[in-house]
Amino acid sequence: MGISESLKEKIIIIADTDPSQVVEILSFLKKDGFNNIKIAKDGNKVYDLLRPHYEKPEKIGLIVVGESLPQCNVNEMSMTLSSNEGGIVVPFIILRSDNIKSHTDKSDDFHAKGLIHYMSRPLNYSEFMLVVGFQLSMNYERFLRYKQEDRLINELAERRVVDARLKYLVVHDELTNLLNRQNFERRLRLILKRNNRLHQNGGLLFIDVDLFSLINELEGFDVGDQLLVEIVGIIRQLTSQGDLFARIGSDEFCLFLDNRSAEDIMRFAEKIRKDIYGSRLFIGDACYSASVSIGVSAQNTKKVVYHPGEMISRARQACGMAKENGRNLVKEYNEDSARVQERNKDVYWVPLIRKALVEGKLFLFFQPIVDLVTGDISHYEALIRMRGLDNEIISPIDFIPVAERIGLIHRIDLWVIEQAIDFLAELPPSMSDIALSINLSSVAFQDSSLLPTIKEKIDLSWVNAQRITFEITETVAVDKVEQTRELITKIRALGCKFALDDFGAGFCSFNYLKSFPVDYIKIDGQFIRNLINDDTDQVLVRSMVEVAKKLGKKTIAEYVETPDAIRKLREIGIDLGQGYIFGKPQMKLLSKKNISLTDLMNEKKPSNRKLLKIDTYTK
Ligand code: C2E
Ligand code: MG
Ligand code: MG
Repeated sequence: MGISESLKEKIIIIADTDPSQVVEILSFLKKDGFNNIKIAKDGNKVYDLLRPHYEKPEKIGLIVVGESLPQCNVNEMSMTLSSNEGGIVVPFIILRSDNIKSHTDKSDDFHAKGLIHYMSRPLNYSEFMLVVGFQLSMNYERFLRYKQEDRLINELAERRVVDARLKYLVVHDELTNLLNRQNFERRLRLILKRNNRLHQNGGLLFIDVDLFSLINELEGFDVGDQLLVEIVGIIRQLTSQGDLFARIGSDEFCLFLDNRSAEDIMRFAEKIRKDIYGSRLFIGDACYSASVSIGVSAQNTKKVVYHPGEMISRARQACGMAKENGRNLVKEYNEDSARVQERNKDVYWVPLIRKALVEGKLFLFFQPIVDLVTGDISHYEALIRMRGLDNEIISPIDFIPVAERIGLIHRIDLWVIEQAIDFLAELPPSMSDIALSINLSSVAFQDSSLLPTIKEKIDLSWVNAQRITFEITETVAVDKVEQTRELITKIRALGCKFALDDFGAGFCSFNYLKSFPVDYIKIDGQFIRNLINDDTDQVLVRSMVEVAKKLGKKTIAEYVETPDAIRKLREIGIDLGQGYIFGKPQMKLLSKKNISLTDLMNEKKPSNRKLLKIDTYTK
């Protein structure tokens, strides 16, 4: 990990009384191109050196300090200076005094706690410089984040930049004040890199609140939110300064524990699980109990993990196993059992899917998409279903991922396209204005027969291509962006339209929007479901609409379920809505072409809040 030139210009303070030690560190730093080095012989001198830079603290790079520096309590100084969030923040390397710590335990040689690193003598050049580089980058990253937040807050105040609000929310989780996924991954990437080099261990906990959607549904979102805050509080009490804690989904949290053995990490995870399960959570006048399922992915020196996403996904899989095994459990990721589980799933589904394709057991449902100004049905989304062995209807969520994994998805994609266009062609002339949107899988563009099939089908059926919209998601392979864009352009040239589905669900949405020429943006249901109660969702949705309008694209909201949601979406300026309030997916199209929005909005929806509490205690 080479240290960047700009970081080498920062002031490094060496505070030590041992001249030979000072000379050695000086020579290490000079060898690597550092030339802004100051020496301090005692604690007072360190503060003297810092004082002129209080206005521009980013100029200070690092303090390397001997543990027994005179006129100074090194631990106190380092804790104060490395953790003051508002003022000056400087990372530390503290050199242990030889007589305080013996070197018998190698793993104890190197300790990290937030921005403070302990190292023992004698120093080794490459290890020392690695830690210097790591400390500088961590602090610089922290500085950039604060600067960016400041800038964003100013931009917000001036209301100039359309998506500033969005970016602001993207770096924060407002409810819990934890890191969000993006920030978490950025920091974790640095730590993993360092750990791999130093052969150090750490581990990631993926924590998911059990039955959270049920709690939300039965008790309301306010209670759900409060419950999350309480749970975060319990976990926070157990963590220490150097741990990375983030909220990465509505009820999903990640916690990275640095520099601990796999056994320690499992013990820690078990403690979190127990503490949460054993706590009574008071919200309003009710008392709840909650539990979490935890998946653990340990970083170990045998199996190197480079990418934070890989680590998160392993821990998530382990968490999935904890849930499947009955919840309120801790499970460690194990490559073999993960593969076995996936294979078992495939073994079950693959013959069923093949059979369904051959025996005509696939069929389409249709769900209306409604103009939120006029109530006119703009078009329908075609949603695939499969008939199971007992004639039951199977959801695409169960079989599409398997089909994607084993490559059967191309046949399904082509089947849906042919079926949907045939459906349009067979409608009576009075319905010749009905349009359909068709979901394409994330790998559809890798199939060379996609374009010819669409073209041929449109030519032969005489269906006006304007009546067809293809929905794509942002999971399209990043390395295939060019190829995908080209295909989209060709299909659009036939007259078909495109929609970007599940918009906002991932962090790359805006990049995809820039990369792909689409006509509609379908805002992911997770932002719409709680829209009425959740200010953050409202801000996000407003920002998405602003961006879409600027780019000349229409917006569609998924999961519109209540009259209040319709009202809110109209106020925000969303063009179209899809959701159970207008119609569930079903085999037939609706007989009407317009839905009365006034009737829907005036409808008194019975409250679905039940009086049942999740595990309410009576004292
Ligand atoms: P999607 O494309 O985002 O489809 C919207 C999903 O939301 C549908 O689920 C729909 O039934 C559901 N939905 C719509 N309104 C509401 C509502 O108000 N409340 C609730 N709770 N749900 C609502 P479905 O049909 O189970 O489809 C799930 C996903 O499966 C789709 O998400 C899509 O990604 C995939 N899929 C569906 N059909 C096809 C297909 O023909 N081909 C491919 N490749 N994927 C498909
Ligand atoms: Mg869709
Ligand atoms: Mg969708």
